[in-house]
Amino acid sequence: MTDSHAPILITGGAGYIGSHTVRLLASQGRKIVVLDNLVFGHDQAIIDPQVELVVGEVGDQALVRALFEKHQFQAVIHFAAYAYVGESVTNPLKYYQNNTAEPIKLLQVMQEFGCKVFVFSSTCATYGVPDKLPITETNIQKPINPYGNSKLMVESILADCDTAWGLRSACLRYFNASGCSPDGLIGEDHNPETHLIPRVMMAVTGEIEYLEVFGTDYETPDGTCIRDYIHVEDLADGHARALDHLAAGGASVRCNLGTGVGVSVKEIITAVEKVSGKTVPVKYGPRREGDPPSLVADPSLAKELLGWVATRTNILDMVGPAWIWTTGPNAGHYPANKS
Ligand code: UDP
Repeated sequence: MTDSHAPILITGGAGYIGSHTVRLLASQGRKIVVLDNLVFGHDQAIIDPQVELVVGEVGDQALVRALFEKHQFQAVIHFAAYAYVGESVTNPLKYYQNNTAEPIKLLQVMQEFGCKVFVFSSTCATYGVPDKLPITETNIQKPINPYGNSKLMVESILADCDTAWGLRSACLRYFNASGCSPDGLIGEDHNPETHLIPRVMMAVTGEIEYLEVFGTDYETPDGTCIRDYIHVEDLADGHARALDHLAAGGASVRCNLGTGVGVSVKEIITAVEKVSGKTVPVKYGPRREGDPPSLVADPSLAKELLGWVATRTNILDMVGPAWIWTTGPNAGHYPANKS
């Protein structure tokens, strides 16, 4: 058992999923220290004044040791990672360095300090092209790109650390993170932005000329790819529950965080048109390399082990807040990302 009021170290807490999780945990009265190098994160995404932001690298062991000495963390949530699949193919070492080697350095410090609770951002990309749908945790994990591999390696490392020194971990395999905080204060802002929903928003507002649909000849009902879009606040809730499970002495878990509902690219466009009242300028292009036709979670294990279910399963529940973020005071971009 760990003290649930002890401070938590959250790496990458200024990023998209990290910042929503930080906000939820802070609202639950937990003491949080965020470690983020702000390469892709935004200091403006940390809105709770009681959250301490430390700007630095996960692999800077002197810094991380100093933070452990000061705060005596009993748990770590590790978000910090690179997540551009295409870039991982052309520059794999960057991904293995940042996503695999850096967390090893963090784990070494955790071992030194006897910190044995680790919540890890894993991904449905560890499954590659699924051998069956919906995807359960028993699907074969066979990534088709270095990004997925870099995450799967950490899953293996965590299992070995559990055996060797009792590190208990939760590997949360996210499906497509989407949506934003409904009050529009924090949201999704990547630079470059490659994800579907924000790009559809950018097409609607004229920030880009049109949305290119990657492939219309998939074996899906409307020919476009199907994904499982999970609201970022539901993901945040998954982290809070995983933390509670481990803090209460629960065993390591590996589970999907998805809704179980598949939505096509064309259905996303229709949903954005509905919430915005505008027409999305669209061009139909060829398939994007490496895109599996359909990725949909079976989320039942997370319910069984963590008592977690996605509370939003209608795509309008994701796209609606994303539109609020796009049209709100930040207009979809934190100040540093405004061009
Ligand atoms: N997609 C698209 N146009 C875009 C961006 C994405 O048609 O400008 C498609 C992409 O091919 C995939 C789906 O939207 O089928 C979701 O892509 P995203 O990059 O958001 O997430 P991924 O599933 O690749 O992690």
